[in-house]
Amino acid sequence: MEQRNFTEEHEMFRESFRLFLEREVVPHQEAWREQGMVSREVWLKAGEQGYLLPWADEAHGGLGLTDFRYTQIEIEELMRIGETGFYLPLHSALVAPYIGTNGTEEQKKRFLPGCISGESILAVAMTEPGAGSDLAGMKSTAVRRGDDWVLNGAKTFISNGQLADVVVVAAKTNPEKPREVGLFLVERGMAGFQRGRHLKKLGMHSQDTSELFFDNVVVPAANVLGDPAKGFHYLMAGLAEERLIAAATNVASCQAAFDWTMEYIQERKLFGRTLGSMQNTRFKMAELRTEIDMAQVYVDHCVTQLNAGHLSGESAAKIKLYSSELQGRVVDECLQFFGGYGYMDEYPISRAYADARITRIFGGASEVMKEIIARSIGLTEQAG
Ligand SMILES: Cc1cc2nc3c(=O)[nH]c(=O)nc-3n(C[C@H](O)[C@H](O)[C@H](O)COP(=O)(O)OP(=O)(O)OC[C@H]3O[C@@H](n4cnc5c(N)ncnc54)[C@H](O)[C@@H]3O)c2cc1C
Repeated sequence: MEQRNFTEEHEMFRESFRLFLEREVVPHQEAWREQGMVSREVWLKAGEQGYLLPWADEAHGGLGLTDFRYTQIEIEELMRIGETGFYLPLHSALVAPYIGTNGTEEQKKRFLPGCISGESILAVAMTEPGAGSDLAGMKSTAVRRGDDWVLNGAKTFISNGQLADVVVVAAKTNPEKPREVGLFLVERGMAGFQRGRHLKKLGMHSQDTSELFFDNVVVPAANVLGDPAKGFHYLMAGLAEERLIAAATNVASCQAAFDWTMEYIQERKLFGRTLGSMQNTRFKMAELRTEIDMAQVYVDHCVTQLNAGHLSGESAAKIKLYSSELQGRVVDECLQFFGGYGYMDEYPISRAYADARITRIFGGASEVMKEIIARSIGLTEQAG
């Protein structure tokens, strides 16, 4: 796409982040896939360069770059190299803002500097074996005991689960009111906090996804985020941005798949001509180009809305829905052009195909997005 919403300063940021990835990420991608997680070192290096929590206040060690476009650039560059395991956007833009928005000044001073330097890696634990889309069904509990809270429960599918030093854990806090949930900052080493299996997945092989267990973990009041009855409210307040992060990632993945394919089809020769010169290829690529551009325009529009403080839940749901469904189609159709090579693990398109499958499920499944959009146009489920 010719015109995007970026200024010269953004482009300089992009250039330096791209160089950082080429130096500190690309050489390690294979090893990380084998290990099932990225190194702690890359987090520290990203921290050193100011790439973690760029939005954070200078008083806490951040750069004060609250413009979401910096996060968007990081997402786009990570997807450009097909790196879905170095989960910097989850840490910086999804979990840390819970502390930045709902934490006390004391909590910000205590937790944010480590998140900015990369010494402290973040995760968020909402999903449980019996409760994913329907979070109200969660069973984890936190019971008040003096100044502390005693946390019990099991979480699953937690990104950064093995690496995380601080986990924002959601748990019910009032047995009489099932919608009262608190958010607790559980730290590495707290007695009773254990990591379960490092789960094997279809894709995103360098991303560590884990079970987490909490067995009578004593969480001090100083580690409770905001009001322990309002956790749902805090989670919901962050959802629009979370879905925009997902959508920006999905469209950037489409763009990467498109670029790899453009390169391949212009090289690959069959029946005495290049694959790219065949009518089917030219038309299919023209269609994909059009659809990706349309999705990009909507993502960029939502970024502008977010920056202005106006991003609605419905807009975020629409672009999350559309971009994840589009990504599924784009990686499938691009893979087709690679023939058998596209099925080989050494080809990025093969990895992108596996990585893409989850985006219609996590961060709110497509069906949940459709519910939100249907309700926003006045269509609710009614008997009779
Ligand atoms: C790789 C990966 C990373 C993840 N990272 C995290 C993380 O860091 N932290 C965290 O807390 N969770 C995380 N998750 C969990 C993720 O958010 C959940 O998997 C997701 O919310 C779906 O929940 P579920 O798996 O329990 O499926 P369910 O809730 O059981 O849903 C199953 C299916 O039911 C359908 N469905 C759902 N709702 C509706 C509806 N309203 N109407 C009609 N059909 C519906 C959908 O097709 C859905 O796919 C991660 C998951 C994966 C796989």
